[in-house]
Formats: sequence, structure tokens, C-alpha cells
Amino acid sequence: MTLTDLPYDGLADALTGLRAHVAAPVALPGEAGYEQAAPWNLAATVEPAAVVLATSAYDVANTVGFAGRRGFRVAVQATGHGALSVASDTILVVTAGMTGCTVDPATRTARVAAGATWQHVLDAAAPHGLAALCGSSPNVGVVGFLTGGGVGPLVRTVGLSSDYVRSFELVTGTGQVLRATPEENPDLFWGLRGGKSTLGIVTAAEIDLLPIAEFYGGAVYFDGADATTVVREWARWCVELPERISTSIALLRLPEMPGVPEPLAGKFTVAVRYVAVDEFDDAERRLAPLRAVATPIVDTVGVLPYAAIGAVHADPVDPMPVSENHTLLREFTTETVDVILAAAGPNSGSVQTIVDVRMLGGALAREGAHRSAFCHRDAAYAVTVIGVPAPPVAEAVRSQADALVAELTPWSTGGQLPNFAPSDDAGRAARVYDEDTRHWLADLAERYDPAGVFRCGQVVRFVG
Ligand SMILES: Cc1cc2nc3c(=O)[nH]c(=O)nc-3n(C[C@H](O)[C@H](O)[C@H](O)COP(=O)(O)OP(=O)(O)OC[C@H]3O[C@@H](n4cnc5c(N)ncnc54)[C@H](O)[C@@H]3O)c2cc1C
Repeated sequence: MTLTDLPYDGLADALTGLRAHVAAPVALPGEAGYEQAAPWNLAATVEPAAVVLATSAYDVANTVGFAGRRGFRVAVQATGHGALSVASDTILVVTAGMTGCTVDPATRTARVAAGATWQHVLDAAAPHGLAALCGSSPNVGVVGFLTGGGVGPLVRTVGLSSDYVRSFELVTGTGQVLRATPEENPDLFWGLRGGKSTLGIVTAAEIDLLPIAEFYGGAVYFDGADATTVVREWARWCVELPERISTSIALLRLPEMPGVPEPLAGKFTVAVRYVAVDEFDDAERRLAPLRAVATPIVDTVGVLPYAAIGAVHADPVDPMPVSENHTLLREFTTETVDVILAAAGPNSGSVQTIVDVRMLGGALAREGAHRSAFCHRDAAYAVTVIGVPAPPVAEAVRSQADALVAELTPWSTGGQLPNFAPSDDAGRAARVYDEDTRHWLADLAERYDPAGVFRCGQVVRFVG
């Protein structure tokens, strides 16, 4: 009998049985604790059959074992920054309570539990002058970020964040607890770095930290009226930067809300983000011509402690509904700039909150010491269109984002990054992975999750 064959009472009984198998708190719909499934991205409909508020790898293993026997699926969520819609045939493991993080300054490593955010690691590493290779927002979960590869504000200088993973501990689809390193279960170590939760639920990770105590960087914000000049100049200027400097540009229409500074709130602005981790005088000199293309309305660039790396992008903190589309580009030509400005520049009628162009290349283009399931190292730029799909512009947010990505096709590699590709796109796997990677991920999933317990969300499986 499968789950969907069960009458309502049978379903409730089956789920009640979950409590006998798992030591962690279990919440069914309407019960206290169920609300902890609410994701950061409020656009996702997260309505699982039950929520397990995991506190250990055993809770995860016992949940997966139970689900496999009873015909449930299992999804995992830490912060909900990359939330997927979760339906009532699925038990949701919420790892948000597993926030442990221990730093070993001698080996320059951190051991991080499944629910830790980058902020937890930044805080633990900073007293030792060490840096964790987070993304733009320190509030994103470490494991969710790393299983998608992870492209951070220093990407050109340090490369892909998941290349700095030393080991993962995980629970496979059969409920087995395993360790994955380059030597131990190397197939899992390969697939977990890029394959999201296809091969299991990670319960802990060990990562390298870098000796970076401070950086020269931040963002220079210009009035939206100067967007055409700023974007055109940025496109010319950034190609001259050495790989020890990373940069991105964003067309912003930030709402008036707590945390958004007054000069940026409710206005159309453009931000140039900039990060260098050494040779600060040279970095300042190189930024000068871009700073001078128009009059900045806010300039946060300076020498900052690495723990303040989140200030570069200043991503929103509070939960909000978000929808995004994304594409990778081979080049950023004058024509590409014109397409972006026509779609999101002055007088475009754009309803997107952020149109973000990150320069890639540099260290990202080089394969890490151990190959992984992350593809598309050859992309030169990543364009991400982010909007708030709320009435009255919900439909326009989605259709404008799709239209912009379609118009960028002539310069697109056709690829997408695992952490930015929309999860509700049926063609996602084909855009995120090359054919061989897709095949090997699906093949490993058959081996480690034969019953298809994790067959939901962004996982890669053979069709059927
Ligand atoms: C404001 C913002 C800024 C961002 N900036 C960047 C950035 O700079 N660079 C970048 O690369 N990405 C970035 N992202 C994307 C982000 O890295 C992904 O959405 C990531 O999956 C979020 O992880 P999470 O745990 O916080 O989210 P969750 O929604 O909790 O998890 C998302 C997915 O991660 C996987 N996952 C989570 N926990 C586990 C686990 N224990 N085991 C296995 N898989 C797991 C699952 O597939 C899960 O569905 C950003 C997202 C937002 C909203």
C-alpha cells in the first residue's frame, strides 16, 4: 500500500507512528512546532505531512528509515532561503536546530552541523583571523549553499566554495549514516558537491577556512538615472581586473522596509560591488575610475573585517516572497548590456527588485583538487533576476524575468548554477548539469536511494 492509498485516519496513524521512531520533536499540521517549517522564501508552499525538528544524525536516519518503510518522501530544510514547495506526501526534516560549529585554528578547519548558517561560522572563525567562504548572505545555510557549489563575493579569487569541503557526514536514502571524503565513499563526495540533496541529507560538514582577517570592499551605489553610464562603464572596466578582485553589479529597486537605507529605499539605484583580499592600495586605485563615472549616493567601500563580508551585497534579512530566474553568460558585450538596460534600466517599467550580474572566471574556472558534480566553470558571468511575486505585480515579476533570460540567449551558455536555478522548472537538471554529470548523479541516486525517498525538489533521477 502506498501513502496515497491510505484514508485520512490511516495517514494520521502512520504519521503518529513516526514519533515512536524519532527522538526529536515531530509536529503534524496544526500542532506546535509545525510552524517551524515556514521558509525564509515565503513564495514556497511548504505544507508537509509532518515536520521533524531534527537534533542529531540519528533523528535524520530514523526519519528516513521510517519514511522508506511507509512510502513517504523526505525533504530537508535549514533556513528556507532556497525553499521548495513541499507537499503532503513528504516529511520535512528541519535542521535549523542543529547549529553547532567548532573551529580548529591549528588545521584551519570548521566542523559545521547541518543547520548552521554562514553567520555561525563567521562568528566562530573571526577570533582566529580566519574566513569562511560564504555567499552574499551570511544568513544562508552552510550545507544548502555547499551542496549547490557556492559562488561567493570572493569567487574569482578563491573559486568555488565547495572545493573547500573536506568531508561530509550524511544519511542516505536507505537510512545509512556514512562519511564522504576524497578517500571514503568518493562517489558520494563527488556528487554531494553540486548535486544538492540528490544523494542524501548531510548532517555535518568539515570545511577549510582561509587566513583572511579583513578585505577591501563594499558597494558603491549610484542613482538609477546614471544606470546606463554605470553599467556600460562597469562592463568595460571589470575585464581589466586581476583575479584577486571580484565584482558584481546590480540594478536595484529596493522597497521601503526596515534595513534598507533611506537613500536606496523606494528608489531605482545601481550598486557596484567590489572585494579584494590583498594589495588594498592597488585595489583602491583600480576602483577609482569606476567610482568617478557618476556621483555615488552611498559608498561603503573601505577596509572591513572579513566577518562583515555580508555588507558587500547587503542582502535582505527578513523572510519575504521571492521568485528568480537565472542564466550564465559566455561574455558581457555592449549588446548584452543594452538588453539588460532595456529590460531593467531607466524607464523600462521593470518590477524586479534586483537584477544582478556577477563576474565569474578567475579561480572559479579551475577544477578543484577533487572533481565534483558542479558544472559550468567556464561561464564568464551569472545573471540573476529576483523579484517579489506579490499582487499586483506577481505575474509581471515572473514574465519579465523569463523574458529577460530569454533575450539573453544569444550570449548564454545555456547553463544555470544549482543554487540559483528555479526549482519549479522541469528543465532544471538539463540546465544545471551536463549530460554525464546528470547520468552519474541519477545512477548514484538509484544505488543510495533505491526506494526514491528523496525523490522531490531539486534531486536528479532517471525519469519514471
Ligand atoms: C538572499 C540570498 C542570497 C543568496 N546568495 C547566494 C550566493 O551568493 N551564492 C550562492 O551560491 N547561492 C546563494 N543563494 C542561494 C542559496 O545558496 C541556496 O538557495 C541554498 O540552497 C540555500 O540553502 P539553505 O539551507 O539556506 O536553504 P534551504 O531552503 O533550507 O535549503 C535549500 C536546499 O538546499 C539543500 N539542502 C539544505 N540542507 C541540506 C542538507 N542537510 N543535506 C542536503 N541538502 C540540503 C536541499 O536541496 C534544500 O532543498 C542565495 C539565496 C538567497 C535567498
